[in-house]
Amino acid sequence: MVHLVAREDPGGRHLLLGNEAVARGAVESNVEIAAAYPGTPSSEIVETLAEVADDVGMHVQWSTNEMVAFEVAIGGALCGKRSLASMKHIGANWIMDPLMHAVYHGFDAGLLIISADDPSGHSSANEQDNRYMAQLAEIPALEPSDFQEAKDYVGHALSLSEEVKLPVMLRLVTRICHSRGDCTFGPVRREKRPPRFSDDYYRDFVLGGNIVGPKAIPKLHRIQHEKLARVEEAAARAGLFQSEVPEDGPSGGLGIIASSAPVGYVLDSLDSRGLMGKVGLLKLGLSVPFPEKTVSSFASSFEKVLVVEEGEPYIERNLAALAKCDLPGLKIFGKLTSHLPREGELNFSSVDGALASLLGLGAREVPPEKLKLMEVSSKLVTPRIMSMCAGCPHRAAFYAAKKATRTAANARYVAIGDIGCYTLGMYPPLRFMQDVFCMGGSIGVANGVAKSGITDPVIATIGDSTFYHAGIPALINATFNQANIKVMVLDNEVTAMTGYQPHPGCGETATKKPTKRVVIEEICRACGIEFVRIVDPYDFSSSVRAMEDAIRFEGPAVVIFRRLCTQEHLRRARRQGLRIEKYRVDLQKCIGCRTCVAAFGCPAIGFDRERKKAYVIALDCVGCGVCASVCPQGAFSPERAGEGT
Ligand code: SF4
Ligand code: SF4
Repeated sequence: MVHLVAREDPGGRHLLLGNEAVARGAVESNVEIAAAYPGTPSSEIVETLAEVADDVGMHVQWSTNEMVAFEVAIGGALCGKRSLASMKHIGANWIMDPLMHAVYHGFDAGLLIISADDPSGHSSANEQDNRYMAQLAEIPALEPSDFQEAKDYVGHALSLSEEVKLPVMLRLVTRICHSRGDCTFGPVRREKRPPRFSDDYYRDFVLGGNIVGPKAIPKLHRIQHEKLARVEEAAARAGLFQSEVPEDGPSGGLGIIASSAPVGYVLDSLDSRGLMGKVGLLKLGLSVPFPEKTVSSFASSFEKVLVVEEGEPYIERNLAALAKCDLPGLKIFGKLTSHLPREGELNFSSVDGALASLLGLGAREVPPEKLKLMEVSSKLVTPRIMSMCAGCPHRAAFYAAKKATRTAANARYVAIGDIGCYTLGMYPPLRFMQDVFCMGGSIGVANGVAKSGITDPVIATIGDSTFYHAGIPALINATFNQANIKVMVLDNEVTAMTGYQPHPGCGETATKKPTKRVVIEEICRACGIEFVRIVDPYDFSSSVRAMEDAIRFEGPAVVIFRRLCTQEHLRRARRQGLRIEKYRVDLQKCIGCRTCVAAFGCPAIGFDRERKKAYVIALDCVGCGVCASVCPQGAFSPERAGEGT
């Protein structure tokens, strides 16, 4: 059956995840090439497109990193194919190099960058607001505020890109990406455009008019500014600005300017206080370049304006700069005046509170029954630390590596982590890595640590997908500079953290076509690494030995811990009807030393404080058997049928 996102159903209303709505927008808008590196909260966009690629005739790929994904999209747009590259906000940092060149270029088809920002950093290391990236690159940024717009703005962004001949950013936020809402479908517009590579840019700007090289740059920059100057009018024509000014004067002289997900909080707050249509509202569907004419014309009707936006006070700052000359009496409120929080996501309460304080309305009372419910429910939630899954091969690898540092280096070492589920190895009880940086940063940072004069072994930990993403150049650098670092590649054979997407080592593409496997150990050897060892992390003694040997080896060394992600393994086992063998604790052997819970920390192992004995939570146990190697008393063994603790 055809996936909902590919269905021909104009006028049909469907409940879609925001990311699915974006994917539907790409299908309706004749996107022909889509590429991404997975990253929460953006992953489902290309994941969904991969599912419908064959049905709608789109080329969809997971790329090794965001920069490559964007370059793939550039290539598509250069040949007249509407193209997109999707990424999370931090991932967009990777595209800055090609982007800053692409902005001077013209394309024969729409070129869309989707940036899924993550206010509050639900699954990210920061709250970066990529509207500033669009501002730096001088490209338009659109901000959909609901699911319908998430779909429709894909088409608007591509049309705008074609009209002004600039890459365009669609800036999403987590609440749009990962919530569900109503979406009315438009017609599916698919037309195969014959590819045509144009050399206009090279001919006209690099060779043309004798303005070769640097002399061409100011001219190209000026052209870009001319393009930008046309954006606001084009956006207005596309209906990206919607405003309402109450005819009989706004309540309290107040107008609100809002964009993105917080538009919903504003509407809810106005509705619940009976203020709908009584307070002015301007919804900005395009915020970069700052639409000065639209904002100035709206704000001139009010004594004060509240700016409600997700992320940094980008609109607020621009409004303040605009008001200095154009609207000197205007009072501006928002994040800079502490009416709204600058850090973290906005929500209904924060927006409603700001509105109430500016209109002199009472704070909203929380009904006592709701308070009671919150109190009861908070007691029901068990506090827990972030932890790797039961049977996670990464836990086994870290535990073995820790043991190796004790035997080979008197427990002294510096370990730098990377981005992936193995980052959880920083948390108790393992506490293996002492620090962590960006994608692929572990190897480069470890290189610097090793060259600092530190005499303890220096270890970098990196996952398989991250290795392909950004680890390889740093590994070459380590060989080139003979950095005495030990790299643990935690290869669970899939991009697990973002939803099990395939990577170059998996042997299949985004659309599940078989492809050549790019093998990590071959890359390591080709990078000049002489010590390369591959171990199964469930094989505890071999893992410890490999790490001990690596630590004792003089020069860069790599140990690849290879074992399929437990969750993916369970999924496959369930599909094949395979039985999972559980483990048990022999109470006669257990002496209650707590090594298995306090040092190893498999969440499937509990500890009975009264009996002072460990036990296995059979429901959670995946039968990896690593506990049998961890327990100094040999108390763990596979459960025989009908037996268990
Ligand atoms: S490590 Fe072994 S002996 Fe120690 S508590 Fe766990 S099961 Fe018991
Ligand atoms: S076999 Fe042992 S280590 Fe593996 S999941 Fe079960 S209890 Fe945990």
